[in-house]
Amino acid sequence: MKDIKSKTLAELADELTALGEPKFRAKQVFSWLHRGATSFDEMTDLSKALREKLKNEYELIYPTVARRLESAKDGTIKYLWRLTDGNCVESVLMRYHHGNTVCISSEVGCPMGCAFCASTLGGLVRRLKPSEMLDQVLFTQLDSGLPISNIVLMGIGEPLDNFDTVLRFLELVNSPEGMNIGMRHISLSTCGLVDKIDALAEKNLQLTLSVSLHAPTDEIRSKIMPINRRYPVAQLLDSCKHYFEKTGRRISFEYAMIRGVNDTPEMAKILIRRLKGIAAHVNLIPLNEVAESPLKPSYPETVRAFQQTLEAHGIPATVRRTLGSDINASCGQLRRKFEREHFTRKE
Ligand code: SAH
Repeated sequence: MKDIKSKTLAELADELTALGEPKFRAKQVFSWLHRGATSFDEMTDLSKALREKLKNEYELIYPTVARRLESAKDGTIKYLWRLTDGNCVESVLMRYHHGNTVCISSEVGCPMGCAFCASTLGGLVRRLKPSEMLDQVLFTQLDSGLPISNIVLMGIGEPLDNFDTVLRFLELVNSPEGMNIGMRHISLSTCGLVDKIDALAEKNLQLTLSVSLHAPTDEIRSKIMPINRRYPVAQLLDSCKHYFEKTGRRISFEYAMIRGVNDTPEMAKILIRRLKGIAAHVNLIPLNEVAESPLKPSYPETVRAFQQTLEAHGIPATVRRTLGSDINASCGQLRRKFEREHFTRKE
């Protein structure tokens, strides 16, 4: 059956007209869906006959809360959602001064294999549907009672590996008849799929593109991020330049600080050289330790020195504040913990 919440308003209008309904019905249905209706019978301003027609034609899926953890320190809430097929994904609600931000997943697991990341340890299970991405925003807002104003696609998965779905999700969440979240309030993070960054540039969206750079040389980047063997640093940075020229949007580079790997003064120098001429902002993130990996976070003074070197050379750099450290809030950690506790693995 067709997943009704993955349909755009225009598609619904066409399909409902084909079912013999007037066009305005689509708006009614769309607005029920995007307010979090979990059954067609809730849609009380539709006739019973139409509700039956919809039930025959479409499925209305939604996630349930498998776990909900709230940080005692900063109010960050982590959700582990159970999807209709039993798989789980995570979202994190962060409460910033500039508004409530939800970090959502784009895939169950991840195929990219970055050495420091918990989300990729079990590989890719499957890609999410557009409605499953939307529901993370919608149900986080409904469950928490906190209005969501910003979205970051930085949870489990590689958004550009689920390209068409992500574009459709953006259209849904941006829709004035739905959650109406502006593109400028959305960030999309990628490990560097250059062909897809180029394709995204063509769409000329006003979202913020974050690129997980993490190292300025091919030698080091290829060691920690397998994607670098396909798209090396020079090619990635060219594509970022092109992205800026096309969209006018400054790129945000993520740089996880890993002790003794990418945090030396020499690395800072190379990074400065390579970012020359690119409208960039660098986000330094002290590595979150993952139990399965030997990599350690840089010392705070190393992070500060690295930041100062970048700033001294005119590259805006911020050190990301860590939220929710008491609740396993970073990517993929809760899903793995939950799976370990609930499933006995056949070795
Ligand atoms: N696949 C996308 C988005 C998901 S990860 C990407 O690679 O950008 C969101 C960010 O968290 C990425 O920058 C990723 O590299 C980073 N990240 C993953 N594991 C981390 C860890 N253990 N410590 C710090 N940052 C991490």
